[in-house]
Amino acid sequence: MSGSTDAHVHDLDDLRGRVRAERGGSVDDSIPQLAQADPDLCGLALALADGTVRTSAQADVAVSVQSAVKPFLFALALLDTGGDALDRIGIEPTGEAFDAIKLETGTGRPPNPMVNAGALLTASLVEGDDVEGRTERIVAGLSAFAARDLEVDEDVAHSEHLLGDRNHALAHLMRAEGTMHVGADDAVAVYARACAVLVDARSLAVMGATLACAGRNPVSGEQVVPPRVARDVVSVMATCGVYDGSGRWMRSVGVPAKSSVSGGIVLSAPGVLGAAVISPPLDAQGTSVRGRIACEELSADLGLHVFAAKP
Ligand code: GLN
Repeated sequence: MSGSTDAHVHDLDDLRGRVRAERGGSVDDSIPQLAQADPDLCGLALALADGTVRTSAQADVAVSVQSAVKPFLFALALLDTGGDALDRIGIEPTGEAFDAIKLETGTGRPPNPMVNAGALLTASLVEGDDVEGRTERIVAGLSAFAARDLEVDEDVAHSEHLLGDRNHALAHLMRAEGTMHVGADDAVAVYARACAVLVDARSLAVMGATLACAGRNPVSGEQVVPPRVARDVVSVMATCGVYDGSGRWMRSVGVPAKSSVSGGIVLSAPGVLGAAVISPPLDAQGTSVRGRIACEELSADLGLHVFAAKP
């Protein structure tokens, strides 16, 4: 498969040039820092299983990771709980928005780790004595996925914590149901800081590649999570990663992915590559408009659709 990858990806800047012409979508305005995002920003990167990384212009422009952090929080929670996280969280798609105030019927568990309720819990299941300890562990874990030292944008984290009313509501609801074990405000604080970690397209592509390569980072060579954890995470990305747009995504792109309100999309094509696009204007489901177009083209060009058998 990496042979065909080499043959087809001539120049990510060609692809970037084509998708930049798209003017649809609007930038998220849930916090001031996201509202100020540059709508013209468009960075693309591919990280292949052999450790080669290919980038377009602006692949080194950083944004806050936002919900693209959720697969990695799930991975770290599975690692740190020895898999017990699977008993504490559902894995079924919701067909609803990422911040829906809804828990699993009958259990009061979060529906899946890719919506906010789930990520509030997975961030709280990562090892650490308090908010500081869990944040440190998360930043170190994300850095291992990216093969570089990442950091939190404290202004973004502060706004997320202050203005994330629906996240506070979800954390309190899980407390009431007995499915959230840490204090509601602490849960939101850690999740807000995880969402505020800065990534560029290059880092995000390497993070996606680590999941695609059975948990082994193809750039650093580090086994970041066991193969079973990577498999579980990518499976849930496939069914829940684009929220109520997951079915449409799977049909048109056919590669497990996670979207985010900062305009990042991370892709994990098992055994082949990780990829990322960062471009802020979003569609109604909170998916980057240019990101979707770029991912459709990449998938078609590289033959990545997991359900498209060769005729
Ligand atoms: N930090 C955002 C929130 O919790 C992330 C949402 C997203 O990227 N979809 O609302």
